[in-house]
Amino acid sequence: MKVLIVEDQPRLGDFLRRGLSERAYTVKWTKSCAQARDALSEFSYDLIILDLGLPDGDGLGLLCEWRRCGFNEPVLILSARDTLEDRIKGLDLGADDYLPKPFSFDELLAHIRSLMRRHATVKQAVLEYAGIRMDLMGHSVQAHGQHLDLTSREFALLEVFMQNAGRTLTRSYITERIWPGLVDTNLLDVYMSRLRSKLGPESGGSVFKTVRGVGYQLK
Ligand code: CA
Repeated sequence: MKVLIVEDQPRLGDFLRRGLSERAYTVKWTKSCAQARDALSEFSYDLIILDLGLPDGDGLGLLCEWRRCGFNEPVLILSARDTLEDRIKGLDLGADDYLPKPFSFDELLAHIRSLMRRHATVKQAVLEYAGIRMDLMGHSVQAHGQHLDLTSREFALLEVFMQNAGRTLTRSYITERIWPGLVDTNLLDVYMSRLRSKLGPESGGSVFKTVRGVGYQLK
């Protein structure tokens, strides 16, 4: 499970990183809004632990920005601001849980487990974006109401984009998900062009943006 920690306080950040790594979580520790923004634009995470007082801005602003972009990672706010108003504000802005500092590590783990259980049950079976509708259980895709016939690789590729809509995905990130272990080749470009043509000129040509030197984005 991948966890993104956004915490500028060195001791607490290091404590979280070590504690979670020891429990087999894969941890990325960022110390500012800018670093967190970069991390999340590149990868998706199973959980984000978010501090509010950050050197270059407010964690709540960051949360707002992510929710506006459609990033639906569960967010657990860790903050010394613990008035009822603060908690309500955080939850209203799209946080999934709020744990006031100071906290015990066991308490944090319990919150994480509960959040993961809740999130697992609401994991989406249907993804919809930009006129495209993917039914992950029924393994079918429609674009603007028209059924599309995709191979299993094309389906997997489209799903990676649908799960990360609006995000620029690097070539290596996409390749690793569809063809694990394969060194970057032009196979991805071949599949992207197939996907574009199957999605049709009215959507496929315009929904995918090629980000030169980086990768692709589902707009
Ligand atoms: Ca802080």
